[in-house]
Amino acid sequence: MPSALIIGASRGIGHELVRQYLADGWRVLATARKPADCAALAALGAEPLQLDVNDAGQIAALGWRLDGGRLDVAILNAGLYGPREGECPTEAEFDAVMHTNVLAAMRILPLVAPAVCAARGKLAVLSSQMGSLGARHSPVATLYRASKAALNSVLVDASLRFGPQGATCVAFHPGWVRTDMGGAHADLPVEHSVTGLRATLAALGPSANGGFLNYDGTPIPW
Ligand code: NDP
Repeated sequence: MPSALIIGASRGIGHELVRQYLADGWRVLATARKPADCAALAALGAEPLQLDVNDAGQIAALGWRLDGGRLDVAILNAGLYGPREGECPTEAEFDAVMHTNVLAAMRILPLVAPAVCAARGKLAVLSSQMGSLGARHSPVATLYRASKAALNSVLVDASLRFGPQGATCVAFHPGWVRTDMGGAHADLPVEHSVTGLRATLAALGPSANGGFLNYDGTPIPW
């Protein structure tokens, strides 16, 4: 039975990833930071694990849980938007967004990668087109954009390190999706985005390692 790890699965895109992989008969390890969300994931049929991606102790517990295991797919989905306008953030806002979107990836990807390499699987992060430097047209959400650009850099380093060991590492833009983060007026229903993300991931070969892709597989400029 193929297996997936979804990090940040309480709601939105992460929750829908869990729902669709379970519906396809996959074994799914799903993380959430609140016990009630872990219980809801268990009721859905996933194997839950409590994980705040900013909690070093809980990250270590994830590493122990994965030790010696195999993952066909691992997706780091948890993310934080922060201030919507482009003005200078407070230190607290900077720390919250950078810790959640960047430091967490630096800590978690190396722990998850061995299980993905063992299965010659796919390791993905949920980035955003807003992190692209080459496709930027307006100066909003400066902190979020900087965090996703930094996340992209972390992903490229992971691809250089773990690609040769068998993991295909990619950064995804999920589209503008109707979730708490994307808002009610976003373009895409979450089911559509996640169906595309899963199909694109499934079709990727090793040559895609180190790529930045839209949910439908179209490359995005860094
Ligand atoms: P939501 O805001 O709807 O959900 C965010 C998810 O991240 C929740 O499960 C939340 O958990 C989790 N999370 C946040 N902080 C932490 C933390 N410290 N530890 C563990 N989990 C955490 O976002 P979406 O589903 O819309 O987005 C998912 C990903 O896709 C994000 O990385 C986002 O940046 C990216 N993205 C989304 C777009 C969109 O249009 N929606 C567009 C481009 C990128 P909790 O419930 O506990 O808060």
